[in-house]
Formats: sequence, structure tokens, C-alpha cells
Amino acid sequence: MKIICVGRNYAAHAAELNNPVEANPVIFMKPDTALMQPRLPFFYPSFSNDIHYETELVVKINKVGKNIAKKFAHRYYDEVSLGIDFTARDLQSKLKSKGLPWELAKAFDGSAPVGSFISKESLNPIQDLHFSLFINGEIRQKGHTALMLFTVDKIIEFVSSYITLKKGDLLFTGTPEGVGPIKKNDLLEAYLGDQKLLSLKIK
Ligand code: MG
Repeated sequence: MKIICVGRNYAAHAAELNNPVEANPVIFMKPDTALMQPRLPFFYPSFSNDIHYETELVVKINKVGKNIAKKFAHRYYDEVSLGIDFTARDLQSKLKSKGLPWELAKAFDGSAPVGSFISKESLNPIQDLHFSLFINGEIRQKGHTALMLFTVDKIIEFVSSYITLKKGDLLFTGTPEGVGPIKKNDLLEAYLGDQKLLSLKIK
């Protein structure tokens, strides 16, 4: 499986990192080794001093598809969760300033913890979901999928025109504003509405 991520999908987050909003989604990928085993802590890596959290709605692809039209895209997923797109911001800034790919700042081991999946049928429409991140009990991020620049179905249409999607692939759909650093011993908890889907300790 592969993990496909969208960058700059909320205008307020693009602005907080001084990034322009693009005409097409900004796409990058993480390998399957970025997934974390449930209930294991996240170990702060030695190559960074500035790991940031980015809380994102995650969509699980349920069948193979290529060149999926937007109007049919909803048939390619039936479960969603929340994930953290951990980013080594110091490394990313260094690579970006040289015009180099920022893969290593995004794709390292454990950089994509994902919570429990729930059926989309039990939820509001996909573009009307509220989610939030608490660190040590304090709210840090609040997202509403209505504010996505590119909808989930549009992202699926766009990505599948280049890359075949397969059952089990995960789509990280971008973070709202409020990203920031984590530190050792932090407890991260992500909620979709009032359901806690992810709980993660930093070691
Ligand atoms: Mg992100």
C-alpha cells in the first residue's frame, strides 16, 4: 500500500507557512514504513529538532482505480480516520530553500500514525466533518473539511489521473492551520466530532 498526501489544502495553513495556494493539489507520498503500529509511542527522531504535528482527515481507498471521475470518486472509499502528518520542519525548510525534494522531512519511519477507521455512512457528508487535535489536554488544531481547497473527490480524480489507486491506500487530505512542534512526553489526541480516533504518546 501507499500513503498519498496533499499539501496546502487549507488556505489558512498555506498562509501560516508563507506558501502560495496552487491551481492543483500539491501531492507527495510516504512509504508503508511511515505507518505506526497502533498503541506504540512515536519516538522523536535524532535527525530533527523541530518535528511538527499536522492533523489530517485520512481516507482509505477500497478498490483499485485509475482515471476516476470526480462524480464517481465517492465509490472508492467508505472509511475515514484521522492521522498525523509528522514533518521535520527544520529539514524541510533546509531542503525547500535549496529547491530540493523534501521527501526525507515527510516520509521517515513513523511519520504517519493513523487512528481507528469509521464508516463514512455513520458521519456527516465528507466535506462537512469537524476534527480537532489536543496536546496534553489543550486544543491545538480545529479543522472543518468544508474549508478544503480541493475536495476529497477532486483529489482522488487528480491523483488517479497519474497514479493507480489500490485497495488499502491511504489519502492524507491536508492540515488546517495551527501546526506546531511536539516534544517528548506530549500526549496527542485527535477527535472526529466528539469521537476520539487517535491517541499517541511522544517518547
Ligand atoms: Mg500535511
